[in-house]
Amino acid sequence: IWTDVLAYVRKNISEVEYKTWLEPVKNLGVQQGSLVLGVRNSFAQEWFRKHYQELLEDALRSLGAQNPQVSFQVLPAAQDALLLPSDPPPPPSVPGAGRAASAPVPTPDDNRKSLNPKYTFENFVVGPNNNLAHAAALAVAESPGKAYNPLFIYGDVGLGKTHLMHAVGHYIAERFPDKRIEYVSTETFTNELINAIREDKTTQFRNRYRSVDLLLVDDIQFLAGKERTQEEFFHTFNALYESHKQIILSSDRPPKDIQTLEGRLRSRFEWGLITDIQSPEFETRVAILKMNAEQGGINIPQDVLELIARQVTSNIRELEGALMRVVAFSSLNNVPFSRMVAAKALSNVFAPQEVKVEMIDVLRQVAAHYGLTPDVVRGSGRAREVVLPRQIAQYLIRDLTDHSLPEIGQFFGRDHSTVMHAINKVGEQIGKDPELRDTVANLRRAMQLEPDTEI
Ligand code: ADP
Ligand code: MG
Repeated sequence: IWTDVLAYVRKNISEVEYKTWLEPVKNLGVQQGSLVLGVRNSFAQEWFRKHYQELLEDALRSLGAQNPQVSFQVLPAAQDALLLPSDPPPPPSVPGAGRAASAPVPTPDDNRKSLNPKYTFENFVVGPNNNLAHAAALAVAESPGKAYNPLFIYGDVGLGKTHLMHAVGHYIAERFPDKRIEYVSTETFTNELINAIREDKTTQFRNRYRSVDLLLVDDIQFLAGKERTQEEFFHTFNALYESHKQIILSSDRPPKDIQTLEGRLRSRFEWGLITDIQSPEFETRVAILKMNAEQGGINIPQDVLELIARQVTSNIRELEGALMRVVAFSSLNNVPFSRMVAAKALSNVFAPQEVKVEMIDVLRQVAAHYGLTPDVVRGSGRAREVVLPRQIAQYLIRDLTDHSLPEIGQFFGRDHSTVMHAINKVGEQIGKDPELRDTVANLRRAMQLEPDTEI
């Protein structure tokens, strides 16, 4: 049936759209009367709800379904075929259900089970905003239980705390395959404790957390006000600490600012090293975007990355989301990456930005249209296959930018009379050749792309 659904959808959307969005989807089967499809991250999930839900339900209807329902679920990172940024694996659908009670004791080779495979040191860009936290994490990874215990990392949301914790986990898992590593959010820890109490399995719960070699507890600020969980965590902490097991905690604020946290816990959190992560500087943001693009096998010009990095200044998750938008926008509209495309792609989310068309943008656009590189179009080749694109590029630059003929000439390494000749020639030919006229019109339109393609 899924093949039939896909065939139906394929007839109704463009091939690029199909390849970009529908092909990577995983069919997760029917659950409670709804066809569940796995998508790669929460951005894609939103996108599908907005753009494909109806179409997919139509498809099911056309295949005879009475009251078709389609829903989208974010796949855990391990199943993520694309390398674009994705969210960490979703929590178990029933919070904390039974893990403490029924899960077998992890065997050595799944000691990374609770870790997101992408959150490694290799994938962590170090900048002035996070270099202290990074150095501390690395020191802890190299000598767990000995360097700083606990390591307490704090900072605003989306700045890499979880990533850094997982990185330590991976590092230790690789060197010591038999170490037990447990990553848990404070929320999950709390839920599991509640379940354990209800099911009378607190002993198992304790054994589980007190037998790990590395305990990573995320968003510890959520302990605030939870007395029973604090009590339990206090004993877990002591047990691990006394046997020199490494503990890493993250929080959105330093221990002293966590309200209603028991004094004895607060002081323990301050025993080791407290380090923070700040918002990334411009250069770090660009470097993060560059790494993400490279990992996705996508080549995006530096000036485009810089434009994105200027738009999103604080949260790295949002920065990655912005990059995905630009990638999606460019592939759906079938236009190469340019600052105009990026500005348009982001204009619905951030303040619309007027971006002036530059010579290089036109050159790239024309080159991409003809399947050539910008350097070839700008080069000295005299074959008709490159001369025409070169002349069109000069014509459009004159049309879309404020540059003078000598400036355009300089850009192409030619004198202004050659450029004038090229421009006249294209102008003449457009009058005679309707196909060329369409080509030039389309190229011009691509660079003045209206934000009508909603993302
Ligand atoms: P936090 O836990 O502080 O809210 P996360 O660790 O979840 O933030 O990071 C949010 C996103 O940003 C993740 O996709 C993460 O991989 C990415 N990220 C954060 N810091 C960096 C960095 N320095 N280099 C590369 N990616 C980063
Ligand atoms: Mg986090």
